[in-house]
Amino acid sequence: MNKDVRSCMKCGSCTASCPSGRVVAFRTRKLVEDRAIGEIDYDDLSLWYCTTCFNCMERCPRGIDITDEILKIREEAYRKGKVLEPHRAVLRYIYRSGHAVPINPEVREKRMALGLSELPPTTHTFEEALLEVRRIMEDEGIEYKE
Ligand code: SF4
Ligand code: SF4
Repeated sequence: MNKDVRSCMKCGSCTASCPSGRVVAFRTRKLVEDRAIGEIDYDDLSLWYCTTCFNCMERCPRGIDITDEILKIREEAYRKGKVLEPHRAVLRYIYRSGHAVPINPEVREKRMALGLSELPPTTHTFEEALLEVRRIMEDEGIEYKE
């Protein structure tokens, strides 16, 4: 629906639906409010605690695309250089292999024991696909180097 965050009526359904908010200091409604007034704290680590489960977005009575908005905020944080080291590590994996979790020797062995090819038919097998992934990352100016 893509309703503007400023249409939030502060019902709190998003926070109440949020599995992350139950275990960490992350409050979905607060983030929506901050977005509405243009005061996002990009240094606030809780921004990264959202699991993108979409519970809040499915339940928001105002039809606000909350999760999509959180992803946009994260992208802004990234563009400002506010990205966590584990996320950078994932980007490096993707640049090197095309996978956030590349295949490891143990999985290779298991695949072969099951009669499968050693590598799956992904960027692990098709180098041109991997080059395509790298090109996209480079075009987007994504930091991926050591
Ligand atoms: S569920 Fe929607 S309307 Fe309710 S507080 Fe959250 S963003 Fe606002
Ligand atoms: S998408 Fe994120 S903010 Fe929304 S309920 Fe799930 S974890 Fe919470």
